[in-house]
Amino acid sequence: MQYQTVAKAYEEMGKTTKRLELTYLLVQLFKQTPPHLIDKVVYFTQGKLYPDYTGIEIGVADKLAIRAIAMASGTPETKIEKAYQKTGDVGEAAQEALSNKTQTTLFTQSLTVQTVYDTFDKVAKTTGQGSLDFKIRSFASLLNNATPLEAKYILRTATGTLRLGIADYTVLDALAEAFAGGKENRPLLERAYNQSSDLGAVAKAVQEGGLDAVKNFKITVGRPIRPMLAERLETSAEILEKMGDKCAVEYKLDGERLQIHKKNKTVTLFSRRLENITSHYPDVREQCINTLKAQDMIAEAEAVAINLDTGEYLPFQELMHRRRKYGISEAVKQYPVAINFFDVLYVDGEDLTSEPYRKRRQILQKIVAEAERVRIVPAITTGKPEKIDEYMQDAITEGCEGLVAKELGSPYRAGAREFSWVKLKREYRSELMDTVDLVIVGGFHGRGKRAGRFGTYLLAAYDKDADMFRTVTKVGTGFSDEELEKFPKLLEPHRIQHVHARVDSKMQADVWFEPRVVIEVAASEITLSPIHTGALDSIRKGAGLALRFPKFTGHIRDDKAPEDATTTKEIVRMYRTQLKKIEEPLEAHRVKAKSS
Ligand code: ATP
Repeated sequence: MQYQTVAKAYEEMGKTTKRLELTYLLVQLFKQTPPHLIDKVVYFTQGKLYPDYTGIEIGVADKLAIRAIAMASGTPETKIEKAYQKTGDVGEAAQEALSNKTQTTLFTQSLTVQTVYDTFDKVAKTTGQGSLDFKIRSFASLLNNATPLEAKYILRTATGTLRLGIADYTVLDALAEAFAGGKENRPLLERAYNQSSDLGAVAKAVQEGGLDAVKNFKITVGRPIRPMLAERLETSAEILEKMGDKCAVEYKLDGERLQIHKKNKTVTLFSRRLENITSHYPDVREQCINTLKAQDMIAEAEAVAINLDTGEYLPFQELMHRRRKYGISEAVKQYPVAINFFDVLYVDGEDLTSEPYRKRRQILQKIVAEAERVRIVPAITTGKPEKIDEYMQDAITEGCEGLVAKELGSPYRAGAREFSWVKLKREYRSELMDTVDLVIVGGFHGRGKRAGRFGTYLLAAYDKDADMFRTVTKVGTGFSDEELEKFPKLLEPHRIQHVHARVDSKMQADVWFEPRVVIEVAASEITLSPIHTGALDSIRKGAGLALRFPKFTGHIRDDKAPEDATTTKEIVRMYRTQLKKIEEPLEAHRVKAKSS
């Protein structure tokens, strides 16, 4: 397959922001791709070489890219630099330089997808002395054989600025359409994706083996499973109403979620976002090897910082000291953690995800040998709301955030946020509103004290059905001076020239960002809004929902992907709950007034 086919498809995709058109173009591209390349084309389309969990990134710096373009085109570096600064797009700079190329190379070969992929792969894996030179030469020789259009996309892919606006869900739609007989079989593909977190592997399976191969998709130790997530409710009575007679309630510990994969003595740890974070926790690895009584297994646990003298849990902030690249062994001593197991998904060849919670918990109790720093999350089973409330008090006294209620008969629903798990947090009860996690999609220039920086940020919630980000508020308060400095730097790599294809905004921001950075915001009220697009039409025709008086809590949720942000549906639910809270006391007041 020629790389030209891919580059032309990307060029077309760049001309539209409509999801249906993007999907159609993707279907055409996938249909032209042979089975041995489909995984690579899927990764490319998302600007990657491998699934995220491998941690292998192309990661070519702009400077290196510019030198490679100069070498291949015979244009002085300064000239390319200028072109780059004008548009901020290294891809366009490459396209322009190659279009103006004066000297023609004697032997040029047309580029295949395989050659481009192999070159990227080598570049991504080369480190150490002389690697810089090797990378420049590798790219230059690729560019030597590239047409200007190909050069544009090679460079955008290499520098991580491809940004076609294609999310996992769109790829799944296109795969279903191209190889699985249409939309109705999409859930099967989604299931395979949730079990493997590898869209390339799913694409390969469905193209080569059809739906049977997808149905037979197996969990593999070492390949992370997309995590099951919790819905939220406000009271123990509501929880029991949803879950039936009885449910389990577990402590909701305030730490970092770990998906632990053990194969013999090799332990790999994945974060909530499924990044490999094994190196942060050498102590957890060792404890797992010593205390887990299965040879191969996948389990989930919350790592929480503890006080070793008292055994008490410490706040989440303490654990953040463990997120570092260097000085890990000191951090392990200074900030000890306890591993708190709450689920098990696979044991010695047996996939447990379809087993009910009740059984998984029993198995967990058999295979985890508890120790000072290895625990099973405390839980009770009850059908009484007052018991849940009491347990909530215990949990909070012991430094937990609240409880997670779990349906006793529920399987492990990878990648789903449903009512089989429900979180009950302390703050839902007292305040009008909880905190929400929103995605930064735009910025507005500041004035006065904030001149030269951003004054406010435009935030969006995730609309899962449409796979879009819709605006719900602008936030300008809660930022410390340090954060005001830090945010523009954090956002700079995600700056784009136009509103992103997956962002729906009626507001015109001064600067647009790719939806990447998730922050936690507290707000005291939700109102109907004519200018925000979140949950548009869901309460009243023509109106969206907006958060009023939002405040940044200081917590950047880098453990969350943009698709893990609070959804527009959750905001609708919060709006309804808020109405109830306002109306119930009013109603009570009216009844009282009437009777007296
Ligand atoms: P939050 O912002 O409340 O942590 P979240 O969106 O990260 O929520 P949820 O699915 O809403 O994730 O809540 C479950 C999270 O709570 C898990 O990701 C996990 O890190 C944590 N947790 C703590 N204790 C438990 C438990 N006993 N069972 C499941 N999850 C738990």
